[in-house]
Amino acid sequence: MKLSSLALTILLMTQTTTANSQEVNVYSYRQPELIQPLTDAFTKRTGIAVNVAFLKKGLIERLKAEGSRTPADLVFTVDISRLNAVVEAGLTQSVQNDFLLKNIPSTYRDPDGHWFGLTTRARIIYASKTRVSEGEVTTYEDLASSKWKDRICTRSGTHAYTLALTAAYLHHHGEVETLNWLEGLKANLAQKPQGNDRAQVKAIWAGVCDISLGNTYYMGKMLGNPDQRAWAESVTVEFPEFQNGGTHVNVSGLALTKYAPNRDNAIALMEFLASPEAQEIYASDNFEYPIAPGTEADPLVKSWGDFTPDNVNLAAIAKLRSDALRLMEVVDFDG
Ligand code: FE
Repeated sequence: MKLSSLALTILLMTQTTTANSQEVNVYSYRQPELIQPLTDAFTKRTGIAVNVAFLKKGLIERLKAEGSRTPADLVFTVDISRLNAVVEAGLTQSVQNDFLLKNIPSTYRDPDGHWFGLTTRARIIYASKTRVSEGEVTTYEDLASSKWKDRICTRSGTHAYTLALTAAYLHHHGEVETLNWLEGLKANLAQKPQGNDRAQVKAIWAGVCDISLGNTYYMGKMLGNPDQRAWAESVTVEFPEFQNGGTHVNVSGLALTKYAPNRDNAIALMEFLASPEAQEIYASDNFEYPIAPGTEADPLVKSWGDFTPDNVNLAAIAKLRSDALRLMEVVDFDG
């Protein structure tokens, strides 16, 4: 009897120690190598351990299943649609924090504080160095013009990146024009949508098409890969704009979970990641753009050119995602 109560006391003490230990738990769709340098720096500075669970899929299902007993404090992911899905599932909580508001421009965070962007990537055009002349790439609208007939490659119309761009088109132009644009774009494709963003650049290199839609950071990734370097070197990065806006961008970002057991530590990590220094490191790790006022992208990324990001709040893009998907199905974009 006595022994078992002692055992219970020890057990309780152990649990108390665990609950009081300084840690923060992250569920991440982002690769370990992108995050590790920053979490290490955070731990060194604060003494707070960062435990990261890298997930390939099922993050929302896991958070739902764990409910109020989840160990997760923060969710890291890319693309506004994925951030928004976590919010829409009711798995996040609002953060009102002056430091975050100061360092994350309003375009790149939820007006209600449920998600925050940390870096951006632009959805741009990769253009053949030999078959596309300077100034030929202009606007997103122009991609539907007949001058691009059989010259464009893209990944699936139902992929998050394509849907976000289409949602931005909807925001700028409404449904009828977006439908026309998608039909025109489809008519200009050199082949059915297939493969990822890098596969489109490979197709340009192979002579299948002259331009492709892709995210900026893939240029850096291809240049760093001996098998893909030639693809990257066969193209230039061109920044199209919307006629009445800028270049479409998306974010990598994070959200505080609804039941975050280490809320204060999580907010400390959010502040750390939102700081200009951390943004620049995080952005450089994946050839992205930091967003805090005064920050700069790394020299390679800057060498691709300057651009004006579209100024629509990404929450508006997220809201239009299902409409974008419906239009993709109407035009049978991948068919
Ligand atoms: Fe990507």
